[in-house]
Amino acid sequence: MNRCFILGHYLAARRRFTAFADRVALESWQAARLRRHLSLIAARSPFYREWFDQPMCGSPALLSSWPRVDKRTMTDHLARWLTQSMDLEAARRLTTRAVATREFLRGLPNGVTVGLSSGTTGPAAMFFVSARERAAWAGLALARVMREMSFRRPRRVAFLLRANSPLYESVGSRALRFAYFDLQRPFRQLADGLQSFSPTIVVAPPSMLRLLAAERTECRLNVSPARVVAVAEVFDADDRAAVEGAFGVRAEEVYQASEGFLAATCPAGALHWNEDVIHVEREPLGGGRYHPVLTDFRRTLQPVVRYRLDDVISDEPDDSPPCACGSVFRRVRRIEGRGDDSLRLPRADGVGAGMLFPDFVRLAVSRAAGDSLEDFRVRQIDPQSVDVSLQPTFPEEERAMFLDRLADILKVDCARAGLLPPTFRWAEWPEENSDARKRRRIIGLPVTR
Ligand SMILES: [Zn+2]
Repeated sequence: MNRCFILGHYLAARRRFTAFADRVALESWQAARLRRHLSLIAARSPFYREWFDQPMCGSPALLSSWPRVDKRTMTDHLARWLTQSMDLEAARRLTTRAVATREFLRGLPNGVTVGLSSGTTGPAAMFFVSARERAAWAGLALARVMREMSFRRPRRVAFLLRANSPLYESVGSRALRFAYFDLQRPFRQLADGLQSFSPTIVVAPPSMLRLLAAERTECRLNVSPARVVAVAEVFDADDRAAVEGAFGVRAEEVYQASEGFLAATCPAGALHWNEDVIHVEREPLGGGRYHPVLTDFRRTLQPVVRYRLDDVISDEPDDSPPCACGSVFRRVRRIEGRGDDSLRLPRADGVGAGMLFPDFVRLAVSRAAGDSLEDFRVRQIDPQSVDVSLQPTFPEEERAMFLDRLADILKVDCARAGLLPPTFRWAEWPEENSDARKRRRIIGLPVTR
């Protein structure tokens, strides 16, 4: 990958972050980008060409004429979706060798890489990225996560992830060193490696940050990063507090998926959408929550246009005071999790089902369990019953009382949402998957559409 190219993207992305005086300026800039991008995709993607050949389907210049799609639509039509013809079989063979990673795999012609998004429900989806798009992604990630670079104060960035990404290998330099630590290695080995690297920035999933925080508190890990960044899992308030307490810094967050580099924490501590690269529509879920519908107006090989994510998000209100960092990009208040991290419960009026969002469940469990709670798992078994496990576990004689408290708290939330409360049952702490998949504390019934 061409370093100059990445550097160019890095500088441009840094400039764009605070380049817009207000929302109007940003939105008119976005609109011009979108128009150009949509006409290109409508001409080059066979799937969309056919779509706009149909009568009455509107003009491709208007985003509202484009169909809302999701991972399944894309996967079902992938061969015609792409704007370049690709050997899908060869790509599939590459990805099956690295199931459950989101790594960009090399080996396709013209520097194209393929990544696999392994959902917990539905099929795994392939995401193709061209060399040019990868450089833009790396430049953007550097600008939003590493921010400024200095030869006088070199950065050492430790990535603790499930899979290494060639993105970062290719941009290491004197000012910036990267080390990758494989999450699947034994924890002690990992902690020792981290200590000898002595990182200034640590990037890891919250479940790993939590373990590192405990090691730091117990004085078994002697590292003092200036910044700690959570990725790849929902970052709950209790994890955030533990990490901030142990490392004495404000914890930051990166919201990234196979679909794109979506949001990152700014120097003032707010999580901004990368609105200079993606346009976000909101599919409302009530109470300020929504599913984001993304249009990435830089991605052309595998178009992401009006692409709906299952994640449940809420933003800072539009009328909240501007962010101290100077950017007008919208701020995410909470990433609550995926759609199937919510409990799906029958409606009290007997018509269909509704969602009880993960935030309610988290809060209720921590209130019912009290101060000793370190971790929990909630798994919905069927529309009426939900299993709960705690760590540390409760003595047998206290379990029924805990379940009663939990039921009482959630009864109120369910009544407010017009849902029938489920029955809670005690369950033993589940065996975690050994393949170090994402930690999910709350697992609802699969969302069926
Ligand atoms: Zn900000």
